[in-house]
Amino acid sequence: MVYCQGCAWRCAYCHNPHLQRGESDAGPAWGEVLAFLARRRGLLDAVVFSGGEPTAQPGLVAAMRAAKRLGYRIGLHSAGIYPRRFAEVLSLVDWVGFDAKASFNSSYERITGVRGSGAAALESARLLLASGVDCEFRTTWDSHCLQPDELEQLAATLVHLGVRRYALQECREGVKPRVRNEGWASAALLDRLGRRFEQFSVRRA
Ligand code: SF4
Repeated sequence: MVYCQGCAWRCAYCHNPHLQRGESDAGPAWGEVLAFLARRRGLLDAVVFSGGEPTAQPGLVAAMRAAKRLGYRIGLHSAGIYPRRFAEVLSLVDWVGFDAKASFNSSYERITGVRGSGAAALESARLLLASGVDCEFRTTWDSHCLQPDELEQLAATLVHLGVRRYALQECREGVKPRVRNEGWASAALLDRLGRRFEQFSVRRA
């Protein structure tokens, strides 16, 4: 897993808030990562670019190409923040884990703190689904951020878009200082969500 710095959004439950600002020089430079990958050829199968938001990196396309030249399969974790760069990398990736936060409406802005975030994510989601790239849509859920009925609305929207694989993830208590724990999804809610998708996973923190 390669954790890229930088994200323009400010989700209350962000799993890596220390990466949001993208100003740290604590991690290895890409050249060091590439040298590591070159040494591990044949031992590792894939490189997953995660974050932060990997598509915030101007060098993401070149980095993916370099990793592919070494024979690695490429994965991407993205919230679809930058549709143009997201479109650029779709021809390079083997798998995408797409972070869907709400029904691409005003709830998105409430969660990310950024105007227009829902429209950007929707554009990227459509690009991904049209590309045919193997993917999983996932939602990190806390009922304080998204009410159960809004979660069901999101599931319906995803099905309408053509999503077949979906995962519901519980945000970890320790990484959501601005979020109250309002409890986890009921068995009935999980059952209703699961019935909508060909594949449905639940990941507790
Ligand atoms: S989009 Fe992802 S990386 Fe960016 S703030 Fe939200 S959870 Fe964190």
